[in-house]
Amino acid sequence: MSARARAGGTAADVEPSPAAPGPPRPAGGTTVLRDVRPMGRAAVDLRVVDGVITTGAPAPGRPEEVVDCAGLIALPSLVDAHIHPDKTSWGEPWVSRRPVGNGIAGYAEQDVELYRRLETPVAERAHRLLARAVASGTRAVRAHVDVAPAYGLDGLQGVGDARRRLAHAVDVQVVGFPQHGVRRAPGTAELLADAARDGLIDVVGGIDPVGFDDAMDDQLDLVFGLAEAHGLGVDLHLHDVGDAGLIPLREIMARTRALGMQGAVTVSHAFCVPAAPDTDRLADELAEAGVGLTTVAPDPARVLPVRQLRQRGVRVGLGSDGVRDSWSPFGNADMLHRAHLLGLLTRARLDDELTDCFLVAAEGGAELLGLPLADFSPGSPADFLLVDGECLPQVVVDLPARRMVLRAGRVVARDGELVDLR
Ligand SMILES: [Zn+2]
Repeated sequence: MSARARAGGTAADVEPSPAAPGPPRPAGGTTVLRDVRPMGRAAVDLRVVDGVITTGAPAPGRPEEVVDCAGLIALPSLVDAHIHPDKTSWGEPWVSRRPVGNGIAGYAEQDVELYRRLETPVAERAHRLLARAVASGTRAVRAHVDVAPAYGLDGLQGVGDARRRLAHAVDVQVVGFPQHGVRRAPGTAELLADAARDGLIDVVGGIDPVGFDDAMDDQLDLVFGLAEAHGLGVDLHLHDVGDAGLIPLREIMARTRALGMQGAVTVSHAFCVPAAPDTDRLADELAEAGVGLTTVAPDPARVLPVRQLRQRGVRVGLGSDGVRDSWSPFGNADMLHRAHLLGLLTRARLDDELTDCFLVAAEGGAELLGLPLADFSPGSPADFLLVDGECLPQVVVDLPARRMVLRAGRVVARDGELVDLR
């Protein structure tokens, strides 16, 4: 995998990622978005041909669909770089949670209990949640899906089904995620290998190879071995701090360089990074190794220093994490809200700080997933959301309703609901 989107680049200088199976852009359609304010700037008319922004004059005799935007602000659709659609109880009756006494293993136990209790299949719950994401203005997600003997490949098949149903509206990258550990849950390695062989996953996941699985080399051998053999990306959960986090992080960087996988490897959460004694130096190492990071903005102590990392060339994405699952009653798959939370807990105050909170979810996520930037430049995908507002910083604070969401120039959601395009 060599997809590396450059900040400020256009669609033309971005290689498509093999792990980003977007639907084909509709051919032959021309749409004019009348009276729209890209990024809150002055109103213009935007012309979209075959799903991408164009500056060309209208082709004579070619019909144009006109969407009157009435001065709404257009913003790039957002990328949820870390979400767990298989675990969600979204749309189900309220779930009451029990205290957890033994860390990740305890949460994972409650995941299994909830999975067995919910009568609605994964495919339906994942579809509900991803439909909600689309209606909130999300163009792409990286879905971490549990792979463990307790579930077999049920989660992957369910999320795969939801992905197919929503292929016109959102890109879904699927991660096979060994939530229960590889050493700790015998049979998981074989399931991941089956999933990779059968084309059910785009990315191989991992989890705390030292603190939780206590088998660093074995887990990383499996993860990078499958990625190399099947041309997949890598995205590992790393909650451990101190040496238990930094040692595997540096091992992941070394393996990424050795395999030439720069740009295809992500570490999620990476709580050891903000806790590191020299974050600048670590950022430079990550940038050099081409290892990206995601944060879900969990709290002020463990959120990644997003601006500092991005300024030093590290690709960083923002994500929802679990949404109304056994881990947390919170979450809503709304990435504008997640950008707001990032601003709130990093005490963003200046306009450019608020703008950066939005951009990590838009550009940062697109770079991480290897997608072309939806930045309104000629040739860029016409994927954006439309809101009432004054300017981008105010939108990040006020969270206006998403009036319309466009995908490849077509309206796929309106006023919070998917549009039926059949
Ligand atoms: Zn996660």
